[in-house]
Formats: sequence, structure tokens, C-alpha cells
Amino acid sequence: MLTGNEIRQKFIEFFESKKHKHFESASLIPDDPTLLLTVAGMVPFKPYFLGQKEAPCPRVTTYQKCIRTNDLENVGRTARHHTFFEMLGNFSFGDYFKKEAIVWSWEFITEVLKLDKEKLWISVFESDDEAEQIWMEECNFPKERIVRLGASENWWAAGPTGSCGPSSEIHVDLGVAYGGDENSKLGDEGTDNRFIEIWNLVFTEWNRMEDGSLQPLPKKNIDTGAGLERVAAMVQGKSNNFETDLLFPLVEAAGKLTSTTYGDTPEKDFSLKVITDHARAITFLINDGVIPSNEGRGYVLRRILRRAVRHGRLLGTKDLFMYKMVDEVVELMAIAYPELRENLEHIKKVVKIEEEKFSNTLDQGIQLVTNEIEEAKKRGENKLSGDVTFKLYDTYGFPYELTEEICEEMGIEVCKDEFVSKMEEQRAKARAARTVVMEKGQDSFIEEFYDKHGKTEFDGYEIVAEEGKL
Ligand code: ATP
Ligand code: MG
Ligand code: MG
Ligand code: MG
Repeated sequence: MLTGNEIRQKFIEFFESKKHKHFESASLIPDDPTLLLTVAGMVPFKPYFLGQKEAPCPRVTTYQKCIRTNDLENVGRTARHHTFFEMLGNFSFGDYFKKEAIVWSWEFITEVLKLDKEKLWISVFESDDEAEQIWMEECNFPKERIVRLGASENWWAAGPTGSCGPSSEIHVDLGVAYGGDENSKLGDEGTDNRFIEIWNLVFTEWNRMEDGSLQPLPKKNIDTGAGLERVAAMVQGKSNNFETDLLFPLVEAAGKLTSTTYGDTPEKDFSLKVITDHARAITFLINDGVIPSNEGRGYVLRRILRRAVRHGRLLGTKDLFMYKMVDEVVELMAIAYPELRENLEHIKKVVKIEEEKFSNTLDQGIQLVTNEIEEAKKRGENKLSGDVTFKLYDTYGFPYELTEEICEEMGIEVCKDEFVSKMEEQRAKARAARTVVMEKGQDSFIEEFYDKHGKTEFDGYEIVAEEGKL
């Protein structure tokens, strides 16, 4: 059985054998002012896809570190979503197109990964006859397991105008135990956890004009992405990414550090998965130069780290533990990302400072949210006011989303608008205050870091306001 590391390597070797050049994973901080984080393998190549720059070579393959905050709530709840994950990709910049992309993905899945063909399902865009034909004629794929889906699933666009095109996704059916019945098809309601999407092939062939019409692109591109953790789960016969060899050692380490056993209760497993996932995300974010702050990427990091610390508390741990998780992540992943070793001490130091800071106020904060929620409920209210959520954020360093999560657990809503307007009021003040702290040199470590890596240009409050649109 292939290990996660072997799958990563075999993917790259496979596409090298198809004349692709292997590029190193780019930073999680994209060279792109419109994007907060690298969310997909294609991000570093956007200028080539959009025709803004000439590609250095026509075929490229990568394993790219990615972070998706829009999937944060899914982590540990679904078997297949992470904040940090690795995307395997092969790209064609005006070179090969649909046929090769489909045939090679099929060859890799069936001949290298040796996944059970009978369990595979394919989706194509509703009007993409060509893709369906290639699957059937070139790969002998049975028509019964090809499903045509609409734009929300199988269409990719760079924006309202510009490059776009249909996609084709490859899924594995885990079987009736995970939803639906014997007659269920990919895309049927209630089968989200049953059909696992492992690979997305995007065929960028159109240019959307101002008037909405589609013109064929002079140079057609291929952009594919396969989640390494999901592929590993399928290869290793696991229904959950966290049980693959890429992640399970971290689940066990989290268990040790919190005196918890995996498999004990669903709630505990959920917390262990969150800690596991978040340990990878914070390690890689800091490795790429992010530090905790109330803005932009720094806020993403802070939010993820604090959420993990809270899950440690839910498991009954009061000791600092997240900085120890960093050792485990680096041990496990340095084989693919050797720079982690060089940065280990630095990463641990950043995590420890932030963890310590938050741990000191966490219990008070949790007590306060719980009291406030109970008081609000007693008053017959079904919403927690912006005053309270803001105080928690401002005084106790509670990321807004954490308050929201606790509220959800306790069955009460949050006045998000009120919180956002409070944030707006305080924004200028908070900025000034932060400058003063830095000028006074009270936090020279953080200062040094800012000097070295620069500050991020986004605002935490914008994340709150535009949640899910990172
Ligand atoms: P899903 O529908 O399951 O959320 P997606 O369609 O959003 O996935 P894509 O944007 O097509 O995902 O990304 C390409 C591939 O990356 C997916 O087929 C999947 O294997 C992987 N992937 C996407 N999001 C995640 C995630 N949050 N965690 C782990 N792997 C992911
Ligand atoms: Mg998704
Ligand atoms: Mg999808
Ligand atoms: Mg997809």
C-alpha cells in the first residue's frame, strides 16, 4: 500500500514522465494582492492562465500547500476537509488539452494508485459532450457512472469576465453505509459524504466578454487539482483523511498531549481532528512568515491557533500543548518541506507566545461568554448583543468566530452587524494603539518579525464582514 509520501512523489514522477517540469510549492502568501492565501495549486500560475505573463514552460506539475478558511467549519465534521492541505496538480499553459488531461488522470488513478475502477464516478459540465466522450472512448468509462452537473459544480471562472471553462471531477463511492441507497448517483441529495471528490480537472477554453458571451481562448489551458490527503485516504482504504498516515500520527500526538484516546467519543474525536488540522495550518503559516495579529493573514493564524487551544481546553488540557504539536508536524512533513526544520525553533516560539497569551484569558473568556449567554437567555433574548461579542474580542482576544461557535453550541444567535459596526468604530483607535505598542518596543520579538516579513495589508474586520470569501 502506498504511503502519503509515496503518492506525492509518484504523482510528480508520473507527470515528469509526461514532460512536465516540477516546480517547488509556492508560499502560502500569494504574490497576488487580490488573494489573502494560496487556496489552490493554480494560484502561483494565475498570470500565465490569464495571459498576463508568458509561462516559462508549457507543462508544470506541483504539490502545493494550500489553506482554505472557507472550509474551517467543516474541519473534523466532514471526513475530507482541512484548512491546510496539499494539492497535487498538473498544468498546461496553451499546450495539451482535454484529452491528455483526462487520459493521464485516468492512467495515474488506475495504474499507479490502482484504485478500484468500479467505485469511481465522473462528473462533467452539463453541456460538455466532448469530456464525456473522452471518458467513454479513451478510458472505457461506463456512461452510467458519468453524471452531468451544472455551473455551481462543474464550471470554473477567473471572475465575471475573462478565462473560464468547464471542469470534470473524479469521485470515489464509499458505498451505501455513507448515504443514499443502491440506486444513488453522484450528486444526489444526502450523498455528500458518500461520493468523495478527489480530483478536479479544469478545461479553461473560453473568454467571457463584457456582454456575457463566450469567445474561444486563443490558448487553452489545463488546471488540475487533487487533494493529497483525500487521495491517500482512498488508496489506504480509509473513509476519513485523519486516519491516513499523513495525519494519524498527529491525531495520536494530540491524544497524548491532551490525555485523550481517539475513538472514545465523537466530541473528543472532533477536537482531536481540529487540533491536528490546525497544528499543520499554523506551522505552515508561520513557516511562510505570518505572525498572529488582528489583521489579514495574521488574523487567520490567530483565529486558527486560538480555536485549537480552545479544543485543548474542551479535552481538559490546561498546559500549553500547541507549540509541542509543531515538533510533530515538522517531524512528519519535513521530508516534503525540508525548510520546516530550519524554522522549527522560530515557529515554536511564535506559537508559544500566542498560546500563552491566549491561555491566560481563555478560562475567563469562556466563563464570560457562557454567563452572558445564560443571562441573555434568562431575559428571553435569542441573540447575543454586539456589545458582548465585541468586549470578548477586544478584552479577551476571543476571535469573533469563536464566540459565534460557542453560541451555536449553546443554541443562541449572534448580532453580527452590531459586532461589525463596533469593530468599525474601534478600528482607527486600535490601529493607533498598536502603533504605540510597537514604538515603545514592548514586543521586540514581534517588531523584529514585522521588520523582516512586513505587515499584511488586509484587515481582520474585513474577514469578519466577508467571511467565506477568502
Ligand atoms: P469539495 O467540493 O469537496 O469542497 P472543492 O470542489 O471545493 O472540494 P476544488 O476547489 O475542486 O475542491 O479543489 C481541488 C481538489 O482539492 C479537490 O478535488 C479535493 O481533492 C481537494 N480539496 C479541496 N478542498 C479541500 C479541503 N478543504 N481539504 C482537503 N482537500 C481539499
Ligand atoms: Mg470546497
Ligand atoms: Mg466540489
Ligand atoms: Mg472541485
